[in-house]
Amino acid sequence: MTTAPPHVAVIGSGPAGLYAAEALVKQTDDNVRVDVLDRLPTPYGLVRYGVAPDHKSIKSIARYLQRVLENPAVRFFGCVELGRDVTRTDLLDCYDAVIYSTGAMVDRHLGVPGEDLPGSVAATDFVNWYCGHPDAADHSFDLTAEEVAVIGVGNVAVDVVRILAKTVEELHQTDIPEHVMEALAASKVRRVHMVGRRGPAQAKFTTKELRELGELPGVSVHVRPEDMDLDPASAELAESDRHVRGNVKVLNGWTGEPAGDRPRRIDVRFWRAPVEIVGTGRVEGLRLERTRLDESGRVTGTGEFETLPVGMVLRSVGYQSVALEGVPFDERSYVVPNEGGRIVGPDGVVPREYVAGWIKRGPTGVVGTNKSDAAETVRNLLADLHPDGPRPARTIEELLESRGLRVVTYADWLNLDAAEIELARSLGRGERVKLARWEAMRSACHPG
Ligand code: NAP
Repeated sequence: MTTAPPHVAVIGSGPAGLYAAEALVKQTDDNVRVDVLDRLPTPYGLVRYGVAPDHKSIKSIARYLQRVLENPAVRFFGCVELGRDVTRTDLLDCYDAVIYSTGAMVDRHLGVPGEDLPGSVAATDFVNWYCGHPDAADHSFDLTAEEVAVIGVGNVAVDVVRILAKTVEELHQTDIPEHVMEALAASKVRRVHMVGRRGPAQAKFTTKELRELGELPGVSVHVRPEDMDLDPASAELAESDRHVRGNVKVLNGWTGEPAGDRPRRIDVRFWRAPVEIVGTGRVEGLRLERTRLDESGRVTGTGEFETLPVGMVLRSVGYQSVALEGVPFDERSYVVPNEGGRIVGPDGVVPREYVAGWIKRGPTGVVGTNKSDAAETVRNLLADLHPDGPRPARTIEELLESRGLRVVTYADWLNLDAAEIELARSLGRGERVKLARWEAMRSACHPG
């Protein structure tokens, strides 16, 4: 091994990136140094901007990830965007190896007429807005409809349904930005339909998350008994699979008459595929076709239709990753082709470039899934480090300075962190209230 310790760049400071940084400094005696670059001034990625504000225990993973950033071998470079401020070639000039862990930032498309009508909203945008993501700070959502539909039955759909069904009093102790709280306080939404195109046994949400909907005070949850009819294969799954069994049990508990005295209502629907978002000028309904599973288990329409009279449709049908310039990308599966995190191009394994997290395996799993995923990538990266290979030609500091970039350091982020904690204290809210606007975030990072 050459004398200077290996230097690795991790692009993206979400859980996948920070678990990778942790593995890099822990898995070897080689004193690897790690720089974590993020386009935002804030670390923690989806833990900060994806995990629901009322899921405090999952959010507390940030405290674990903070320890990674405080390791003396790890540095944070916020407000540095790959593709805008630095290129892939720059990174390969400055580091021995690069790990891309940029996640899955955009929504998947539904591909039905009316998808672009005002009032048809990607769940990713709505989640970004209530999580205080600076790119969504100026978005506004029309919450004047009494009935809305959420398409998809995954955990993101459950999060969105829950945030819509809760009162602002119930959200008071969360970190939701003040301007979002004002909009939620004015919400007229009273009934939310969560719609699955397949059956209860195929739903993606987890039982713990699903059960929470039934625990909301002031909300009745209803499932139509006929939606719980299971074909033999699904019934078999409901026996043999713990996850499915748990979901089916909770859902069966909601098939009675909904409590009439509750001001808000959630309808969980199955066997309904969206065929059109209808409306003139804005969303006025969601047209659904009844479905069943065919002999091969594929979803197929039955030719029976219904239209839900909703004024807003949230499309929560999954996230997808975005291609990074110059990095191989599979346009069908929306991931970077890789073998155990080693990027694979048309000519085989691409030296010195790796992936971790959702851009490596797709948008699946819980936050903790990224730990083993990142560890695998790092094992392969460390095995590939070549003692006599070419060393970085320049430093990232030189490069960023030559471009006149003002980087947010870890200490700068701590200023913003403290400002958010202080804001919560002054408002009598919870642990923090997020600053969501770029200007406010920048000023908080660099006070004075
Ligand atoms: P997801 O779990 O993949 O769910 C996507 C949902 O959209 C599925 O019900 C899917 O149905 C449906 N869908 C896809 N295309 C559709 C179409 N064209 N028409 C109708 N429905 C369609 O994705 P997600 O909810 O975005 O979650 C992403 C990941 O984050 C998951 O691993 C999730 O568990 C995780 N997450 C975890 C938590 C938590 O732990 N609390 C919170 C949020 C997110 P099909 O199955 O029929 O395709």
